[in-house]
Amino acid sequence: MSLVNLLDLLPSEMESLVQSLGAPRYRGHQLAGWIFGKGVTDLAAMSDLPRELRQALAERYTASPPEVERITPSQDGSRKLVLRLADGARIQSVLMPDDDRLTLCLSTQVGCGFRCAFCLTGTMGLGRNLTAGEIVGQVLAARETLPSGTRITHVVYMGMGEPLASYAATVKSLRILTDPHGFGFSPRRITVSTVGLVPGIEKLARENLRVNLAISLHATTSEARGRLMPVNRAFDLEALLGACRRFPLPLRQRMTFEYVLLDGVNDSAEDARRLVRLLRGMRAKVNLIPFNDWEGAPFQRPALPRILAFQAILLEHGIIATLRWSKGEDVGAACGQLKEAVAAGRGRAAAEVSAS
Ligand code: SF4
Repeated sequence: MSLVNLLDLLPSEMESLVQSLGAPRYRGHQLAGWIFGKGVTDLAAMSDLPRELRQALAERYTASPPEVERITPSQDGSRKLVLRLADGARIQSVLMPDDDRLTLCLSTQVGCGFRCAFCLTGTMGLGRNLTAGEIVGQVLAARETLPSGTRITHVVYMGMGEPLASYAATVKSLRILTDPHGFGFSPRRITVSTVGLVPGIEKLARENLRVNLAISLHATTSEARGRLMPVNRAFDLEALLGACRRFPLPLRQRMTFEYVLLDGVNDSAEDARRLVRLLRGMRAKVNLIPFNDWEGAPFQRPALPRILAFQAILLEHGIIATLRWSKGEDVGAACGQLKEAVAAGRGRAAAEVSAS
């Protein structure tokens, strides 16, 4: 009989679990505190839980985060972690320090099935969705690699895969991350990035999670977006922006629009002006990401003056527009560059995938 991973459970589900094993409810909080709070995954080491409870748990349950297989440091201080899942599939997470912030970029799928033209993952297809435990397990695994006293301050769902395509697991993982008896992250410090799945955005709006939302926009007409992102055929620009306008943003929060700048494709002054018009009236900010090259990519990064001119038009019209020089470029950990051999997933022996 395979063991159930406790990382897949909400703290409230741990309460019910310990009660079903004859222990009082508060033992569930203690169990969650050991795992999510202290990062202790050895049931035998949970010294304030009664021995009988630990034994009963060990018969059917385990607490197993993904295994850190490799850490690749980048010159800019970011670190790419290659993580091995229980079935042998590999994913990546990236730790990105920035002043007093330490952001962890998480994956939600093995590979990705959305085939955005500028992203290598898109060329390789979907392996499988991750479970909630595999998503939050990346926080535990990454935390283990840090010196004591160093905290992960922010979490972004921008690694391999599309979070809203793995909707139930993503939402459950968000609840575990933000639960005071789970990881206790403030929702304001968590950002979910989506390729633009309108039904998922609408569903997320009803969850009352209050996390930040980032939209991969990347074009200013539906036609151009359709060429770059096949998902636009199902949910076009108008439908996507409609869902964004309806999304209940918490006070003082802005929705982020990600825009990868591709030379001669979406980086003209006309594009910048159209972007201004599209975002008019929205509490929005734009992250401009100069394209990160990968071998065989059909795009190029625009020259710096063109990048700055695009940004200047947004700023002139009062739109917060930040240039994001992706971290970890030299180790293939930047947006659109993550690349790893997948040993499991859909049964391919060793497919190469990458992620945004
Ligand atoms: S950009 Fe994101 S959604 Fe598009 S193929 Fe890459 S990982 Fe998938």
